[in-house]
Amino acid sequence: MRLADSIPVLCVGCRRAGAVLCTGCHEFVLRSRVPRTGTCLDDDLVALGPYEGPLRSAVQVLKYREATSVATLLGRMLAEECRRELDSTSAGSVVAIPTARSRRRWRGYDQAELIAQAVASHLGIPRARVLARRCDVSPQTVLDAELRRSLPRDVFHLDRLPDSHVVLVDDVVTTGTTMATARRALETAGTRVTCACVAVTPRRAGRRPPMVP
Ligand SMILES: [Zn+2]
Repeated sequence: MRLADSIPVLCVGCRRAGAVLCTGCHEFVLRSRVPRTGTCLDDDLVALGPYEGPLRSAVQVLKYREATSVATLLGRMLAEECRRELDSTSAGSVVAIPTARSRRRWRGYDQAELIAQAVASHLGIPRARVLARRCDVSPQTVLDAELRRSLPRDVFHLDRLPDSHVVLVDDVVTTGTTMATARRALETAGTRVTCACVAVTPRRAGRRPPMVP
């Protein structure tokens, strides 16, 4: 018996032994609907659910540790959601939002790519590397939403010509600005873009500090 076989698989949501995502946590994710507001993508975004509970734990496992089994599971769920929600059957390939080079170097892998790869294999289409970052911006987590909105719009450029319809994948969408920017880059080539992400950060009221007279 290999050592890996003797280590019990723990649920990323509740840490119970048995599966990557236990039946209870899986059902919780399926039940939690995403409010289709709060991002600049509005209704054009396919997402598994809000960035909270078991979904948040699953994404965090990916953010800080390469976990192919978690990426495969999330990718399969997202592919099913894409099939259900949109006419993604005409999509020719899956494109991941490229992670900033500095973060990628630090982690040694790209979680959006892991998820995109899983989405692609479940949709039965290839993953295409057509997007590149023009410049390295600071990690989103330390950027305030207002500041993120003010970033240059052409952060992404096309490395090669995309298919006529692609599924654009990221792990978490907060304001939607990054994904909208990437979508715009793809649309300049006349490509139809289906945006998909694992989780959407719920919009919190009162994020803007009150004006001091
Ligand atoms: Zn669980």
